[in-house]
Amino acid sequence: MTSTYKIAAIPADGVGTEVVDAGKRVLAALQERHPTFALEWHDFDWGTGYYEQHGRMMPEDGLEQLRGMDAIYFGAVGWPGVPDHVTLWGLRLAICQGFDQWANVRPVTFHPGVPSPIVDAHERELDWVVVRENSEGEYSGFGGRNFGGREGSGEVAVQSAVFTEAGTERIMRFAFDLARTRDRKKVSCVTKSNAQQYGMVLWDDVFARVAQDYPDVETEKVLVDAMAAKFVLRPEDLSVVVATNLHADILSDLGSAMAGSLGLASSANLNPERRTPSMFEPVHGSAPDIAGQGIANPIGAVLSAALMLDHLGHPEEATRLREAVDKATGAGVRTRDVGGAATTEEVVEAIVAGL
Ligand code: ATP
Ligand code: MG
Repeated sequence: MTSTYKIAAIPADGVGTEVVDAGKRVLAALQERHPTFALEWHDFDWGTGYYEQHGRMMPEDGLEQLRGMDAIYFGAVGWPGVPDHVTLWGLRLAICQGFDQWANVRPVTFHPGVPSPIVDAHERELDWVVVRENSEGEYSGFGGRNFGGREGSGEVAVQSAVFTEAGTERIMRFAFDLARTRDRKKVSCVTKSNAQQYGMVLWDDVFARVAQDYPDVETEKVLVDAMAAKFVLRPEDLSVVVATNLHADILSDLGSAMAGSLGLASSANLNPERRTPSMFEPVHGSAPDIAGQGIANPIGAVLSAALMLDHLGHPEEATRLREAVDKATGAGVRTRDVGGAATTEEVVEAIVAGL
């Protein structure tokens, strides 16, 4: 039986347009070979170009236009000349927050043939997932400048992190549920509770309480500084890593750099209750330095499409996509950022051939 899904495509800026187009073509080929699903695309031209014409990144009723979709496939946002906070808050974060996409999932995967600074990564078959709390924490926007302050200190700015018990508990449960689906059933909880005695200790307390409901899942608590070291020194010991908005932001970039390139990293912004559409996007930005040259690595976007298929209930098709990506990198069809000379188009063709 074929299930049909309504997918919003928002390529937005720079290489975003190139990699979303690449992802759509790979999905079309997959759908042709394995007609278990059909995608009905709805294309939106929102982004910095739209901003220059209309003074906003998306129409006022943008979220309403997206609400009925089964998923959102996103490219990248931002362009020189327009401030980052305008482009980011005007589109990407407006969608994340508007649709309460509170769980951000970023797999760290290593690919055959892709040079990694972790020398023997492939022999060790490394892969782990960073689960990022995506709705509160350090990025909650509380604080202000000009707090006066001490004599001689100059301006004082305060930036507060907000952790709610409910917000912490839901991301912990999400991480434990995800661990149960993996070969290695383990959750590593990241904090800085030795130095931050309120929010981080709440995070530890909730972790310990939720863990009791998952006796089959192994647990560990690791301070964020130690976790950075552990990523590099003992990554085979990781499966699901759950961390706050800020900590997971940093750790997941570390993970993608270890895997070889930002251009390979995929992510999902999920509303796990499925009340609203979830959004799937490569981790990288609009890459103005290489945009328009046809050399962007499409793999981050293609693997984000695999996460989208997982979310839509098609894990077997998602696995086929991942295997086709590994066949392409293993055969040496790689873009410049991962040590090759292939174009975006050639990588797409190799992935399609591998399906
Ligand atoms: P943002 O603030 O949106 O994260 P950024 O400027 O920090 O943007 P990117 O736009 O991702 O980061 O670019 C960082 C570097 O990575 C650039 O040198 C860029 O060319 C490279 N890069 C990013 N995405 C890709 C890709 N898909 N393929 C190849 N190189 C990429
Ligand atoms: Mg960046």
